[in-house]
Formats: sequence, structure tokens, C-alpha cells
Amino acid sequence: MMQSKLPAVGTTIFTTMSQLAADTGAINLSQGFPDFDGPAALLSAVERHVQAGHNQYAPMTGLPALREQVADKVRRFYGRTLSADLEVTITPGATQAIFCAIQALVGRGDEVVIFDPCYDSYEPSVLLAGGTPVHLPLSQPEFAIDFDRLAATLSARTRMVIINSPHNPSGASLTRADLHRLAELLRPWPQIQLLSDEVYEHLIYDGREHASVLRHDELYARALVVSSFGKTYHVTGWKTGYVVAPPALSAELRKVHQYVSFAGVTPLQWALADYMAAEPAHLNELPAFYQAKRDFFCQGLAKSRFSFTPAAGTYFQLADYSAIRPDLDDVQMAQWLTREHGVACIPISVFYQRPPAGLRLVRFCFAKREQTLDLALERLCRI
Ligand code: PMP
Ligand code: GLN
Repeated sequence: MMQSKLPAVGTTIFTTMSQLAADTGAINLSQGFPDFDGPAALLSAVERHVQAGHNQYAPMTGLPALREQVADKVRRFYGRTLSADLEVTITPGATQAIFCAIQALVGRGDEVVIFDPCYDSYEPSVLLAGGTPVHLPLSQPEFAIDFDRLAATLSARTRMVIINSPHNPSGASLTRADLHRLAELLRPWPQIQLLSDEVYEHLIYDGREHASVLRHDELYARALVVSSFGKTYHVTGWKTGYVVAPPALSAELRKVHQYVSFAGVTPLQWALADYMAAEPAHLNELPAFYQAKRDFFCQGLAKSRFSFTPAAGTYFQLADYSAIRPDLDDVQMAQWLTREHGVACIPISVFYQRPPAGLRLVRFCFAKREQTLDLALERLCRI
């Protein structure tokens, strides 16, 4: 009998729901990706670089020009001066970055604190490293970290804490005060590394500031901060991301990254470096761009029987369906909405080790053209 290393793991909910949407012809507001393209100048830059012969391996740590752009952006947004050589690593996607960071730092029996609900790659990555995931639920309904519970959980066995802000799937965001509190709690435990998943760093609304770990000296000293060009430039299929970490942590990360994939895709890195240099304003415009989509979606949803609090960040909106089908759990609800009403979404119980009883929330992705959202809203309002 073959022994599975991940006996409890099936196919991800993103694959399952996107497939169901395709099979049923439903509007796909499930898996998080835009239904519009990245900026034209970015797309044509790939073509240019492919034709210019930029088709062989990129440097293992990433194209220097792109690492410089990341360092420049980090300085502009978070006031931190980085060594692009020693502190920035380009990876084939944030998911790969997270996996490598965990493999590099977590060993057998080490505990890793994960806040539920969470992006579904964290737990399998910890298990493959031989670590023990310790799941702490975010408190409802605001999806905030319960710091007292965290304090009671940290110990000499804890090797890593993973945070994610703005948060998938809830859309909640951490504040500077949260980071200060986290720093206080970690202070007695120098062996703990912080993995900060900030892939939605530029998708933050209503004038909020993204409280990046990159702004926080004490936390940064023990942190690996992960981001994704896929989210920021509307090109999730490019699977290109990066990690910013102090030199010693970057060195450990690179030991794994060089054997998991060696390097990211060359022409994509050239194109991103060109585009970032030419269009720095893209980053400043992103919050308003996605806030308009959130507002459009929420204004429409307000006319339905779903209830919700507008997301503070990300391109996801949670919606409570208790007034519609309280008899269905969220997995059944997502299936029902997709099959019977032609709108696919994501159930959020799958992002928990132990979903809270009576959870009646599904997640919609609003990174869509207005016409797509309009059609979806029309269907959601008919229910
Ligand atoms: N972290 C979170 C919280 C995400 O939602 C995603 C989504 N895709 C990722 C990481 C991975 O990003 P990438 O597509 O660059 O691997
Ligand atoms: N992060 C995206 C989401 O939450 C999907 C990523 C994936 O498909 N693995 O929908």
C-alpha cells in the first residue's frame, strides 16, 4: 500500500470551483483572478524580451533590474532601504516562495502558528517540512488576531508564525498597532521567524494604510515578507513573486529556492522590471482601481438578501447567506449557487482546520469587469 505524505489533502478548492464554473457555464467569482488583462505595455514588453532573446535561465536570485525595482518600491512605500542583492529574491509565484520559506526554516516537530481561515498552501507546506501546524482561529466577525490566545500558544517549540494582511479570504487588514503587539509577543522568543504574506499589499481601501512588516524594524529582523506580481499587475498566470528578508534569512530561503525551481521565468522578469521603472504610478492607482470594483459589487449586493461588511482589502468580498439558505453549509451553498444560479464562489470553511459551527459565509472575487459583476449581481439579487 502506498503511503501518502498528505493523506488529508485533496484537490484545492480553487481548482474544484473553477472547474465546476467551467462545467456549468457559471460566472466564475470563485478562484481569485481578474477577468481583464494586465497593462498593455507590460504585455508587449514580454513579447519584446522574448524576441530580444531573453529566453535562458535568469539568475537564481532573480533578474538584478527587477530586484532593484522591488527595493525601490519598498523604499518608496515602506521607507526601508534594502540591499537588492542580499534581501530580495524573485520566485515563481508567492506560493512557491511560501513553500521554500517553510522548508528552509521549519524542521521536524517545530510548531508553526497559522491563523484560520488561511490560504490553503500553508498547512501542507508545514506538514511536508515535518512541522506541526498550530491553528488559531481569527476572532469573528472581524477576523482579528486573538493576541491573548497567541501569547498562550507561543513557546520554545514555536519556529514560525504566519500572518497574512490584507487577508484572504476575509479582506480584513492588520494595523500598525497589531504589528506592535505582535512584536511584543515575539520578543521573548528569538527562535521564531515571521512569515508575512502580503500579496494583497496594494489592494487596501477607504484610505487605510497597509501595515507592512517591512515598516517595522523589530519584526523585519526576523521576517520573510512575500508578495506577488500576479496580484499587483493583474497577471496571476505569470506566477511570479518575491521574498524580502534580511540577508541571513534570504540566504536560507535561497538554499531551498535554488533546488525547487532554481529561478523564475526570464522574459516575465524583464517585462516586470521595465514596466515598474516606466509606470511607478501603477502602484499608487491600484487601491482606487479595486476600491471602485469593491464599491460597485457591494452596492449591487446590498440589493440582495446577502449581508456583508465591505472588505478592507484584497479583491474578495465575504457574504453571509443566512437569510437565503440557512439549511445549507457553505460547501453546499457554493455548489448550489454555481449550479442553480450560475455564480461560482468559494466556501470558507475549507480554509479552517475546525470551521466555527454555523458558518454561513461564502467568498466572491470582485476582480472582474463591470459587465461581469453586473451579470453576477443580477443573478445574486434574484435569489
Ligand atoms: N497568498 C495568498 C494569501 C493568496 O491569496 C495567494 C493567491 N493566489 C498567494 C499567496 C499566492 O500567490 P501566487 O499566485 O503568486 O503564487
Ligand atoms: N489565491 C487565489 C484565491 O484565493 C487562488 C490561488 C490558487 O488558485 N492557488 O482564490
